[in-house]
Amino acid sequence: MLDEALDLFLGSRCVGCDRPGRMLCPTCRGGLSVRAGLTWPSPVPEGLVPPWATSAYEGAVRALVVGHKDRGQWGHRRVLGDLLAVAVRGAGAGLDPDVPLLLVPVPSRPGAGRQRGYDATTALVRTAAARLRGERRVTVASLLVSRGAADQAGLDARARAVNVRHSMHCPSPGLAGVARRWPRVHVVVCDDVLTTGATAREAQRALEAVGLPPVAIAAVAATRRSARQVA
Ligand SMILES: [Zn+2]
Repeated sequence: MLDEALDLFLGSRCVGCDRPGRMLCPTCRGGLSVRAGLTWPSPVPEGLVPPWATSAYEGAVRALVVGHKDRGQWGHRRVLGDLLAVAVRGAGAGLDPDVPLLLVPVPSRPGAGRQRGYDATTALVRTAAARLRGERRVTVASLLVSRGAADQAGLDARARAVNVRHSMHCPSPGLAGVARRWPRVHVVVCDDVLTTGATAREAQRALEAVGLPPVAIAAVAATRRSARQVA
């Protein structure tokens, strides 16, 4: 009844099953993963730290990510942030709980993702951090800046790796602030989707270059080739 009323007045439909009503119906919401697993891409970028994700990048999760990132459906931030929190929890499970987690969002390309002042990935990371604060110390620092690789869509793993190489760096003012406030941290690189791992690997390289080696990658979802390994 409520869903029918919502559809009547708002014309909204579930992004997962297209049922009239809420943007994400209770059935599709209940079908989202509550566990994270290791999702190694194939091939694995050399030296990549363990990548964690909750879901295959398909179905409702894919629709949520695309809606949030590309269609201004910022209301999906909450559910996607919850999923990212699950991935971060997986990544942090074996780490010293007394050492804070420092979540570093993968930066958006200049001009992309920051339209209307909204950085989609950073918004998810902040939501995930808020979820996790009751469990352990966690902070978010947008340390990385992208110099602007071309859009990765349509590129294969090798082309993506070449395209993104040395496209990120870590300006010193942000770093100095982190070093002052958080002398000891476990760094986790966070993104919405893990595809070939090239972008995450570049973020890892840029952080290693300034003495902040990440211990893991956490993503909401991973493309199918890697997500087969989700437990
Ligand atoms: Zn649905």
